[in-house]
Order: sequence, then structure tokens, then C-alpha cells
Amino acid sequence: SSACKTLFVTGGAGFIGGNFVLGAVAQGWRIVNLDKLTYAGNLQTLASLKGQSAHQFVRGDIGDRALIQRLLSDYRPQAIVNFAAESHVDRSIEGPAAFVETNVSGTLALLESVRDYWRELHGDAREDFRFLHVSTDEVYGSLGPTGKFTEETAYAPNSPYAASKAASDHLVRAFNHTYGLPTLTTNCSNNYGPYQFPEKLIPLIIQKALVGDALPVYGDGKNIRDWLYVGDHCAAIHRVLEGGRPGQTYNIGGHSERENIAVVRLICRLLDDKAPLAHGGPRESLITYVVDRPGHDRRYAIDSSKLQGELGWRPSETFETGIAKTVDWYLNHQPWIEHVLDGSYRLERIGA
Ligand code: NAD
Repeated sequence: SSACKTLFVTGGAGFIGGNFVLGAVAQGWRIVNLDKLTYAGNLQTLASLKGQSAHQFVRGDIGDRALIQRLLSDYRPQAIVNFAAESHVDRSIEGPAAFVETNVSGTLALLESVRDYWRELHGDAREDFRFLHVSTDEVYGSLGPTGKFTEETAYAPNSPYAASKAASDHLVRAFNHTYGLPTLTTNCSNNYGPYQFPEKLIPLIIQKALVGDALPVYGDGKNIRDWLYVGDHCAAIHRVLEGGRPGQTYNIGGHSERENIAVVRLICRLLDDKAPLAHGGPRESLITYVVDRPGHDRRYAIDSSKLQGELGWRPSETFETGIAKTVDWYLNHQPWIEHVLDGSYRLERIGA
């Protein structure tokens, strides 16, 4: 209905976008969900929305200007949330070109189409329109043992992934400054939670530990990430969308700095408790140090006081409560992960 607000979401078959779409539909939004369905896109995440008119899925590329223009003029969204990206640092080291293609050129094409759509809006629709760009704290580079990233921290991206996200952030900023497009940018720390692709640390370790495989840990295991439960990230995005000032950037983080090795040990202990291995000792004995990622950033930590002060956001999970929920989710959703691991999640996209 026309009373129902429409959000145009890109990358909504991925990890964070999928969690966001599930939550937004439950909150009464109409969602137009554009996703290319790369290896990271998984329609099984959205299976519970099948047949619901509040969710329109469209397979396509954010770089496809004609498609974006058609979708904008057909659906007339009140806002855009751009999650679509190549997102895995290790893949960006192997093949950076795809990261520039989607994260930089794709974001530019999306911005141009959205700018043209926004220019045609009138009155409140134009005044209230927002383009929210979802980005990462990795654009700021690596920290020493102390200090945190603020919105004033100079950009110093170290991986091709981070460089491509930094470039996209700069384009978003320029579209606000040059054309007046009402943009918002969020820079978030590492997320974890349901529906995360098992190439990322936490789901990778949960799944390997569950079946008793070796647990690979980069370098000395002492790299530090500032973890945020995905539901808290999604709540922060809603806050910024509703109350953020156009042209501003907001850091999002959970004050949950942990060494990678501490994360892995915690997962081992939780699983030993919830699903003990039939044979063999505690899962910590499965930890195997592997050659470090080239250029591996040592430490990330986020200062989210701007978001907390201006918009009153607080994370609802601590790392301990969030990781326990996450381990339970993977234990209770083994078919989801098995379909990813055996590749059958890709059949969904051809209508199977
Ligand atoms: P993801 O890899 O799980 O999902 C990305 C989605 O985008 C996939 O569904 C994929 O099919 C889609 N996609 C890729 N290229 C596309 C294109 N050209 N056109 C349309 N769709 C395309 O990633 P994620 O972890 O959910 O991250 C989402 C966003 O949040 C990214 O922009 C990422 O940079 C950012 N971010 C992620 C984290 C994190 O910890 N995962 C932290 C901060 C910011």
C-alpha cells in the first residue's frame, strides 16, 4: 500500500543485508532487494519471505544503470541502503579487480542513478530522501596498542578491499558535496551472527570446530578486531536512516575488542559445552597457526560516541551474549550451512 514505506536495498541476499531485510520486513517496510547473487548471495537466507509482497527480490548488478533507473521509477523508494559489495579481504588479495568493479564503479553507477531520481522528487519526498552507504572501519587502516577510530581519523586503507571501500566512501561524500545528494555513511567494525558466509572467521571456526577439523588461525592469533553482533549493526543503520544528518558519517562499533585467538578459544569452550566431540579432547587442541595474511592489519577499535550521543544507539548484545546466540544459531541451522558448503544454495537462484 502507499502508506507502507519503501526501502531500496542492495546486497540484501548477503550476510548483513539479509539480516537487515528480514528485520525490516518484520518492522513493516516494503523492501525492493537488488542483489547480483555472487557466491556470497544466498536466497535461502530469505526463504521465510517467499510469497510475501512486502519483499520484491530482483537479481541484478548495482552497476547496471538502466536496471537501477527502471527500479527506482517503478518502486519510488523513500531511501536506499547500499550493502552490495565484494566483502572478503583474502579474495581481494587474490583478485582485486572485482572489488574495484563492484565497490567503486558499481557504487558510482548507483549514485548517478539515485542522484537523477532524487532530483525529480518534490517537496517532502525530496527533503526526506536518503542514500545510506554501508562501509567498514577498515578504511582507517591499522591501530597501535591504544586509541580508537573516530569519524575524524584519516583514511589509510591497507588491503585492496579496504581501498575499494575507501574509494566508494569518497564518491558518496563527493555526491553530497557536489550535487547535494542527501547521503549518510556508516563505518562499522567486524560483524558476526546468523547467515554469515563460512569463509569469515567466526562461522568458519564454528563449523570446523563442530565437526572436529583443524582450526586455522592467522599468524600469532593476536590480531584484534572490535566485534559487533549483526542485529546491533542493523539497528544502528535504522537509527542513522531516521535521524542521521545528511552528509555525515557515523562509526558503529560494539566496544568488544578481542584477539582472534580469544574468539577461537571462546567458540571452542561453548561448543565443548553444547555439543561435545564424541572422540578427542577439548576443541582448543584443534587450533593450528597458519602463515599470516599479507599486510594483515593488527588492531581495529571503533569510537562510536557520535552515534551514541546524537542518535542514542547502544548495542544490545555483549560479545559473550552475541557469540553464544550465534553458536546456537549455527547449531540449529545446519542445513543452511551445509547447503553453502556443498554449493546447493546456488540452485535456489535458478528457481529450483
Ligand atoms: P556479503 O559478501 O555477505 O554480501 C554482499 C552481497 O552483495 C552478496 O549478496 C552479493 O551477491 C551482493 N553483491 C556483490 N556484488 C554485487 C553487485 N555488483 N551488484 C549487486 N549485488 C552485489 O557482505 P556483508 O558482510 O553482508 O557486507 C555487506 C556490506 O557491509 C558491505 O558493503 C561491506 O563492505 C560492509 N561491511 C561488512 C562488515 C562485516 O563484518 N561483514 C563490516 C563493516 C561493513
